Amino acid sequence: MKNIFPQGSAWINGEFVKLSEAKISILDWGFLRSDATYDVAHVWKGKFFQLDKHIDRFFKSTEKLRMPCKLKRNDLKKILAGCVKNANLDNAYVEMIQTRGMSPGFVRDPREATPHVMAFAVPFGWILKPEDFEKGLDIFLTNITRIPPSSVDPTIKNYHWMDLVTGMLDAYERGHQTAILVDENNNISEGPGFNIFSVDKSGISTPDHGVLEGITRQTVINLAKELGLEVDEKPIPIEMLKSSDELFATSTAGGVMPITKVSGKKIGTGKAGNITRQIHKLYWEKHTDPNWTLSVEDILK
Ligand code: PLP
Repeated sequence: MKNIFPQGSAWINGEFVKLSEAKISILDWGFLRSDATYDVAHVWKGKFFQLDKHIDRFFKSTEKLRMPCKLKRNDLKKILAGCVKNANLDNAYVEMIQTRGMSPGFVRDPREATPHVMAFAVPFGWILKPEDFEKGLDIFLTNITRIPPSSVDPTIKNYHWMDLVTGMLDAYERGHQTAILVDENNNISEGPGFNIFSVDKSGISTPDHGVLEGITRQTVINLAKELGLEVDEKPIPIEMLKSSDELFATSTAGGVMPITKVSGKKIGTGKAGNITRQIHKLYWEKHTDPNWTLSVEDILK
C-alpha cells in the first residue's frame, strides 16, 4: 500500500512508535462518539512555543470531561518532546489526545471506560503559508451555526467538527480557502482551527462567546497590550465583519494570518493591514524569547 503518512512519530499504549503503527480500537469512545479532547502545540526551530499554556488547557479539558488526565506534566512534556525528536523535526505540529477509551464489554456507561492518552508529531502545518502573507486569506462566510455552547462547551478543545468540515467543503467548492461560521445570534464565531479578530474605528475586537479560547487568541490579546492596544471581547455582527478595516485569523497552525477577502469582497485595502502586521511581527519575535519557549533538547535532558 502507498505510504500516506507524513514524516512523524507517535506515542501510544506507553511506547513510542512509527506514525503508521499508532492505532486505536474501533470500540474506543473517542472514535465512535467523538468523546475525546486534544490539544495542539507547535515547535519552531527546535523550541516549543508556550507549551505550559497548551498543557494547562489540555488538563482542564480532561477535568471538564470528568476524566482527569493521569499523566504528570513533566512526563507529558517528555512524551511530546520524544515524538518531535523521534520524528527528527525542527518545526512541528504536536498533538496530545485523550479519548474516553473502551468500556468493558462495550457497556454504555462512560464512567466504565478507561481513558486513553496518545500523542504525535508531524511537520508544522500552515492555514496560510508565510509566502502568501501579503495576499492573505480569502474566506467564505457560511450561514452554518457553530455548535452552541449550551450543547458542547467550546472551551473544551474537541472533535465536534462536522459543522466546521461542512463549512470547509462549502468554501472549497466555491473556490475560497476556508470558512467562517456564525453563532446562534448570527454573530461571527470561528473557523476550522482558528479564531477571528476585526479591526475598525472602534478598535480591535474578537468574539467573546461560543468559541475555543485559543492560545494564539490570548497571545494576541497580550501582545496587543504590549503594543499599547486594547482588544475588546464582544459580539461581532456580520455587518461589522464585512466593513472591518482589517481582519485576521489566529491559530497554532500558522500564528497571525490576514483575512483580505470575505465571500469575494475585499476587506479594507485588500492587503494585510498595519495592526495585523505589527502583531504578526511581535508574535514571531517571541519564538526566540526564552520566556515564551522551551527547547525539545532541554525537556529531554
Ligand atoms: N478554534 C478552533 C475550533 C480550533 O480547533 C482551534 C485550534 O485548533 C482554534 C480556534 C485556535 O486555537 P489555538 O490558537 O489554541 O491553536
